[in-house]
Amino acid sequence: MHLSDILTHLGEERANYFNAVAPPIIQTSNFAFPNLKAFRKAFEDEMDAHLYSRGNNPTVKILRQKIAALENAEDALVFSSGSGAIANAVIANVKAGDHIVCVKSPYSWTQHLISNLLARFGVEHTFVDGKDTSAIESAIKDNTTVLYLESPNSATLEIQDLSACADIAKKHNLVSIIDATYASPLYQRPLDLGIDISVQTCSKYLNGHSDIVAGAISSSKAMIRKIFNTEYMTLGGIISAQDAAMIIRGLRTLEIRLERSSESALLIAQRLARHPKIAAVHHPHLPSYPQYELAKKQMKKCGGLFSFYLKAEAIEDVERFFHKLQRFLLAVSWGGHESLLLPYCAFYGIPGREDTTVPWNMIRIYIGLEDPEWLWEDLEQALEVL
Ligand SMILES: *Cc1c(COP(=O)(O)O)cnc(C)c1O
Repeated sequence: MHLSDILTHLGEERANYFNAVAPPIIQTSNFAFPNLKAFRKAFEDEMDAHLYSRGNNPTVKILRQKIAALENAEDALVFSSGSGAIANAVIANVKAGDHIVCVKSPYSWTQHLISNLLARFGVEHTFVDGKDTSAIESAIKDNTTVLYLESPNSATLEIQDLSACADIAKKHNLVSIIDATYASPLYQRPLDLGIDISVQTCSKYLNGHSDIVAGAISSSKAMIRKIFNTEYMTLGGIISAQDAAMIIRGLRTLEIRLERSSESALLIAQRLARHPKIAAVHHPHLPSYPQYELAKKQMKKCGGLFSFYLKAEAIEDVERFFHKLQRFLLAVSWGGHESLLLPYCAFYGIPGREDTTVPWNMIRIYIGLEDPEWLWEDLEQALEVL
């Protein structure tokens, strides 16, 4: 299906709601039935019936269809956060005594899920260097059921060879799951490369306006039904109809937003790479990137997120650089309209918390929808303090 058709029309049965162009927000918890026969039938298949909104809500259903189509998946489920989506995908595929192989330094709450929460229920794990395909295979044990990937990593930008990982998972009968938020389904399609479950954080590009927290899982019909019947319905981490409608609205401009961010980010990454005050730039589509060939092979473009290292003698230099900037916000997250900086020195010296392993002179940068020349002017003047 054409991308324009997915973003503009798919799932929108307008004749059912006065030919309204915008989708209806079906703000209801409950649905009533004309007779017992219809009521009974709804219990047979709650995923398709209109019975109760924790199961199937018509506005959320429109969004599910669009996300599944974007991922080239048979079906999708949407959750109240990206972390919720990740937890549902993983929990659905492990039981006590099983083992997970996961890439090193995944998203922080994924790390918590695997190292702390699931460990309490007797699920074991090994974290491996995802750049090394043979290390992934060597970490697999008799009780391994899940291979968990995140490519590219949203902080350090390391990538995994997704086709090779999918082959390993198939050979050892594992369910492969990827947090594929970085590239969005427009620039990387993990299911086409053989991965079983693709997770997207809708809080980033899919919604794209920094006003919604949500996440999605895309996979086969059988896997989605399995997750629906157990984790989705019992953990109940659903998205509201209001928020689903907001994401559908965000999706209308997904393609042009991503193009803009992507092109501006590449331009700024190239200029930073040539700047004398910059020690290194990590952008997977710069030829200097260590995994450049693989990144080009499995990812169409990179979107707006990358990182760079300042030539700085001390944390105070990073602080001076940062405080000179006028046009970037200091914040976590990314994928919205606004450009952001996340200096990793922010994670140093927090009482009760170990310093991160990421060097203090690294800065993660997200380029939003502003004029790239206007953003560059700001970076250039701030770099002069070094
Ligand atoms: C933001 C993010 C998440 C978590 O998403 P939430 O919607 O905030 O729960 C997970 N993985 C990656 C790569 C992210 O960037």
